[in-house]
This record gives sequence, C-alpha cells and structure tokens, in this order.
Amino acid sequence: MYCLWCDEELIVHVNWLNLFQPESRMNVCDQCKKNFIKIEGKVCVKCGRPFERLKCHDCIRWDEFYDGDDPLLKNVSLYMYNEFMKEVITRWKYRGDYIIGELFRLAFLAKFKEQYLSLLKDVVVVPIPVSRARAMKRGFNQANMLASFLSSTVKDVLVQKHLEKQSKKTRIERMTTINPFSITEPINKSVVLVDDIYTTGRTLRHAASLLKNNGCPEVYAYTLIRS
Ligand SMILES: [Zn+2]
Ligand SMILES: [Zn+2]
Repeated sequence: MYCLWCDEELIVHVNWLNLFQPESRMNVCDQCKKNFIKIEGKVCVKCGRPFERLKCHDCIRWDEFYDGDDPLLKNVSLYMYNEFMKEVITRWKYRGDYIIGELFRLAFLAKFKEQYLSLLKDVVVVPIPVSRARAMKRGFNQANMLASFLSSTVKDVLVQKHLEKQSKKTRIERMTTINPFSITEPINKSVVLVDDIYTTGRTLRHAASLLKNNGCPEVYAYTLIRS
C-alpha cells in the first residue's frame, strides 16, 4: 500500500481492528496526515469555523440579511483550510484526480455521525451540484462523492441552472444573487446539504431556501473544509 497523497510506501500495522475492517486502515502516511488539520474546540455555533464567542460576524450578518430567518440552520466542517489543503483540493477537483477523495472517506463519515446522526433521526443528504459542463470535464462531482461516504439516504434533487463566477462580486452582490439551483423533487424530511467547502455560505443558503420553499422542514450543511 502507498500513501494516497505522496506515494510513500505505507507500513500497515495489522491489528484486531483493521484485520476485520480493512477500510479502517489509514490510506495516508503519518507525515501527510499531520497536514490535515481538523477543526476542534470552540467554533461559531452557526458556521462551524473556529471562534471564541458564540457566533461570528459573518453569521450575524446573515441573520440580519434574512431578518432572523436564515434558511440554513447550521454548518459543520471537518477540516481547516490551509496551503496543504489547497493543494489537495486542486488535485482532486480541478485536475480530476478522483481517488484523492478517498482520503476523506472515514473521517468524513465519523464526524457526520457524531455531529448529525446523534441529533437528527431521519435525515436526507443532498449534495450541492456543479454545472453539467464542469462535471463532464472533471468526470465527477466532489459533493456527490462526499455524500456517498455518509450512511444516510442521498437524494440528488438539486440542479445547477447556470454557472456564474462569484469571486469578482462584492459582498452585497454575493448575498443577493439569483438562485442558481432548481429542484427536481421536494423533500419533507430534515436535509443535510453536502459540499466540499464553506466559504461565504451563499451557495448553501440558495440551496437551503429552495428546499425550504418546497416544504423541507429544516436544512443543515456538512462540508469538508471551512475556509
Ligand atoms: Zn504521504
Ligand atoms: Zn459563523
């Protein structure tokens, strides 16, 4: 076995746990493992970023924007964003190296169970879509891959209408852009949206409000990285 990231040969210690559960064996070397920084300790109750007080400034602004009725109840993220993570994401998403996603399988499932399955009984996982053109080029959608690692029902009900570059816009413009998604089927259970990264939270809120307008009682988000 080789490290999924640096190709260094892995020394696999077979013990009672992984003898019967080969999937629990690490697929990344100890050196690389150190670069994946998990979010732990105090976080903003709403967006899951490391934060000393209750709610961060961005989330307070979202509350104001939605007049206290934010369609997204909460986001939980697994990892911090750093230079290493940036490189991993580039290789995975933009260069289409599908197998890289396997790095996250076990940890992504574990935190989901801990954060959401203990809290919500019947939950449907909805991945955030990418445009058809982008998915074709890349061969896969990273959000679908992440969703497939989870133990809950996955429903791919959102469709990307068009793709607009968000990066050149001002904050207010980003907050008020038209909803880029359409929905193929309403969901009347609690939904956890899944995506690779939470940046401004705009995309997730578009998805959340669409689901809620179609009868979904509550929407949460689970993302790999909080940037
Ligand atoms: Zn390595
Ligand atoms: Zn926050």
